[in-house]
Amino acid sequence: MYRTHTCGELNIKNINTSVTLSGWVQRSRDLGGMTFIDLRDRYGITQLVFNMETNSNLCKKARKLGREYVIQVEGMVTERSNKNPKMPTGEIEITVNNLNVLNSSELPPFTIEDETDGGEELRMKYRYLDLRRYCMKESLVLRNMMAQEVRKYFVSNDFLEIETPVLIKSTPEGARDFVVPSRMNAGQFYALPQSPQTFKQLLMIAGYDRYFQIVKCFRDEDFRADRQPEFTQIDCEMAFVEQEDILSVFEGMVKHLLKEIKGINIEDRFPRLTYREAMEKYGNDKPDIRFGMTLHDMTSIAKGKGFNVFDSVEYIGGICADGCSEYSRKQIDELTDFIKRPQIGAKGLVYIKYHSDGTFKSSIDKFFNPDALKSCAEVFNAKPGDLILIIAGEKESTLNTLSELRLEMGRKMDFINPNTYAPLWVLDFPLLEWDEEEKRFFAMHHPFTSPRPEDIELLDTDPGKVHANAYDMVINGVEVGGGSIRIHNQELQQKMFKTLGFTEEEANDQFGFLMNAFRYGAPPHGGIAFGFDRLVALFAGLGSIRDVIAFPKNNSGRDIMIDSPANIPDNLLKELSLKINRES
Ligand code: ASP
Repeated sequence: MYRTHTCGELNIKNINTSVTLSGWVQRSRDLGGMTFIDLRDRYGITQLVFNMETNSNLCKKARKLGREYVIQVEGMVTERSNKNPKMPTGEIEITVNNLNVLNSSELPPFTIEDETDGGEELRMKYRYLDLRRYCMKESLVLRNMMAQEVRKYFVSNDFLEIETPVLIKSTPEGARDFVVPSRMNAGQFYALPQSPQTFKQLLMIAGYDRYFQIVKCFRDEDFRADRQPEFTQIDCEMAFVEQEDILSVFEGMVKHLLKEIKGINIEDRFPRLTYREAMEKYGNDKPDIRFGMTLHDMTSIAKGKGFNVFDSVEYIGGICADGCSEYSRKQIDELTDFIKRPQIGAKGLVYIKYHSDGTFKSSIDKFFNPDALKSCAEVFNAKPGDLILIIAGEKESTLNTLSELRLEMGRKMDFINPNTYAPLWVLDFPLLEWDEEEKRFFAMHHPFTSPRPEDIELLDTDPGKVHANAYDMVINGVEVGGGSIRIHNQELQQKMFKTLGFTEEEANDQFGFLMNAFRYGAPPHGGIAFGFDRLVALFAGLGSIRDVIAFPKNNSGRDIMIDSPANIPDNLLKELSLKINRES
């Protein structure tokens, strides 16, 4: 037997028990006549002690052990004289009487510690060593717990977990497909699912009215932070439901997770904002509502004062930072530089300082007399001591800039409590988005999203104004889930494809199977998908989804550990009827 216990479970109650443990040598210290070794496994660390006086051979053997050697020891659980209250096993140690080296190890290329000296590249190359680190193990344990709780919740609510295929045909989530050549159908390709969207809708038509799946999805997108070419969704669909039913079931899931995993009870219904409200108040359709400092529109009040910058723009808006009226020139310059960064790209920042003595100082004093400044302050309900920061320009881009500025001020002012969770629903998204380059509409969500019934007529006359029966769940400024009520009627679906610029032939070619299915009694249905990696990262308090994925890809979509993607041998290419154009 390799072990009687794990390295995380022995404590003072086990004193004088004879035990066998197996694990990795985390580190070893020689102190005079004693050698101490920290033995690590998935469950924790237990201290081993070897005594030169009482067993010199064994102690000498222990001194030869290197980091990450795999060993088995037999010994007696003894009380430590030097206790470590921070460790669950910190009151005991094992006085070893037998040591068996199960395997040696080369010196690892970085330290297996939370604060490791290994850079990202190196850690990814040796991911199996990286995953030995306690913090990585914690992430994967959390991920597993969350997956179990998700399953528990859905199963207890009559959902069925049903697998959908991975070798399919293009799904329209708006990204590029990964494709797989078919050997048996020369010259033809499968596409990997960007999501199981069409299949889950077909399951509704098949009568499986509550479906869920924790499923891999694949999107060939250029690198963006928080994206991976393959990622995991909690994918769901329900039939005979309206938007309200869906919101309540999935709000329930998030509440269940917060309660079971974080011990946080949220009794109230999650707040809801329409897309428009979110944009106007936060400049963002995934607002972080852990703090206020919302945006205010000052367009009408700030125009017509002879200040050309304001008079010539579509929108003027700002935020009010409580108690920041004494910001220095340098601090304001820093904020100006922040919004001028290429990623944000704003032109300039206007400030109004509302000093504690009731006077104003602003960068637009030339055009705004104290009364005019006071009127501006009233828009924000500002009080003496506050600082108003204003940006002007084209509306959507200015809202975006203000959103970034608000978040930056939130961080500076320490408003963002990392230990709270502030979920909300964002509703009533526009159905379509106009693409200036391609001069056509795109579905904001995907082409199966249902327009709001009262807006259907607008599809012919003013498609840009149509609202969707679509919803996103946002937590702490992260979009964790999104979904919609679907179209379940063939004509409407056809109309939607037409609005999106598909010819009838293209629509039939790509999605004929679904439209056909709509002819055989499709029930009203809708669903949602949660980004599981993001949700786990959020619960773990980590910024990157890579830290909660066992084997992630790097920024160029490579797995540098297994060195993939890779060339394939010529005979395989031939079998697949493929020729590589090596010139391009
Ligand atoms: N398939 C959608 C997505 O991946 C989610 C949904 O509409 O249910 O974003």
